[in-house]
Amino acid sequence: NAGGDAILSVSGLQKAFGGVQALSGMDLEVRRGTVTGLIGPNGAGKSTLFNCMSGVIPPDSGEVHAFGRNITGWPSHRLAPLGVVRTFQLSRELGRLTCLENLMLAPLAQLGERLLPIFLQPGAVAREERALYAKACEVLEFARLADLRDEYAENLSGGQKKLLELARALMLDCELILLDEPGAGVNPALMKTLEEIIITLNRDQGRTFLIVEHDMDIIARLCDPVIVMTEGRKLTEGPFDLVRRDPTVIEAYLGG
Ligand code: ADP
Ligand code: MG
Repeated sequence: NAGGDAILSVSGLQKAFGGVQALSGMDLEVRRGTVTGLIGPNGAGKSTLFNCMSGVIPPDSGEVHAFGRNITGWPSHRLAPLGVVRTFQLSRELGRLTCLENLMLAPLAQLGERLLPIFLQPGAVAREERALYAKACEVLEFARLADLRDEYAENLSGGQKKLLELARALMLDCELILLDEPGAGVNPALMKTLEEIIITLNRDQGRTFLIVEHDMDIIARLCDPVIVMTEGRKLTEGPFDLVRRDPTVIEAYLGG
């Protein structure tokens, strides 16, 4: 699956933390319609790259483009309206809200300070709340969390939390979804559910994914192409079956 045009591209991205060069000229393209995997040994810079692409931290230099716009350094609430969203681990505060509340809050949390007052006007709130409630119920159903809608997020299992993180992202209706280690702490049964949901979102709804994941079985099942990064830059990319046999990739993992 070669995919369509590049909807996300990163060029020459650099980021240092003190003396540590976490990103040293990273390049990457994510093509429309793909489920693209991002792998690499510990310390390769995957999390830093994700953070620089999704407005968590600004890069030192280089550029990030999405849907034809230069989004370098944009905060995440400006990315969602453009069609880019990433999942975040649920914070302690979000853990004290129910699944339903988590979903209804997701779009409001993206509005930023400038637009939030609109929702504080009488009438607007009720109108928006009805629409938000209907959408949240739909997403809960789709993410197979309907039975847990009134459960506090902190009481969910690791896998259910991952479903909720993805469901929060789905509330924003973005074409490009960046997933941070969807397999971490998820039991095999729930992982199957999560994979089915990702595949449905990709095949039936045309959503594009970029997935950082340690578990190579998950990468093998879901992702094409797979981008390998090491020491802050791209080493190679291609179908997982080819990439896994590449001697430079094997060496990067053994050396790391
Ligand atoms: P990966 O996610 O591929 O394991 P990271 O992006 O987390 O890699 O880390 C890349 C390098 O940058 C590592 O050497 C790591 O120790 C360093 N690093 C990442 N974040 C910070 C930070 N906030 N402060 C200092 N060093 C960091
Ligand atoms: Mg990481």
